[in-house]
Amino acid sequence: MFAAHKLCLVLDLDHTLLNSAKFVEVDPVHDEILRKKEEQDREKPQRHLFRFHHMGMWTKLRPGIWNFLEKASQLFELHLYTMGNKLYATEMAKVLDPTGALFAGRVISRGDDGDPEDGDERVPKSKDLEGVLGMESAVVIIDDSVRVWPHNKLNLIVVERYTYFPCSRRQFGF
Ligand SMILES: [Mg+2]
Repeated sequence: MFAAHKLCLVLDLDHTLLNSAKFVEVDPVHDEILRKKEEQDREKPQRHLFRFHHMGMWTKLRPGIWNFLEKASQLFELHLYTMGNKLYATEMAKVLDPTGALFAGRVISRGDDGDPEDGDERVPKSKDLEGVLGMESAVVIIDDSVRVWPHNKLNLIVVERYTYFPCSRRQFGF
């Protein structure tokens, strides 16, 4: 990492890089709109809206994400970090990095397989840097939540929370 003059960048998934909502959380009216939008989006070279039938979940990527990931990967060794479970983390990594060039397997999921996929804000757990090399001085974290990183406030850059689905906005009181 140092030989390549790179630091380590830990990226949170939910409400930082993307927003996910379960089918059951989406109103029928919105579902209709989303389906049409997803169909149009499918044709584009860089998609932002995904429907995961096997997980019963919609996922919308944050605007500007492709540009961000490309630029960030030139400066940092990228890691994904989520409180969601392994299936969710793996599926999101596939969407964000189809070739595996950006994360190269550096995907950390802290949720149990019984947990809801999007476990970010609903479960009062905290994150730590164990499993991210153990080199705190070389790590930058980007997350929408401060309180999940009680031991690494100095490493943390807090970003504005990204919420796309109405149910997520409601979840945060908007
Ligand atoms: Mg988050």
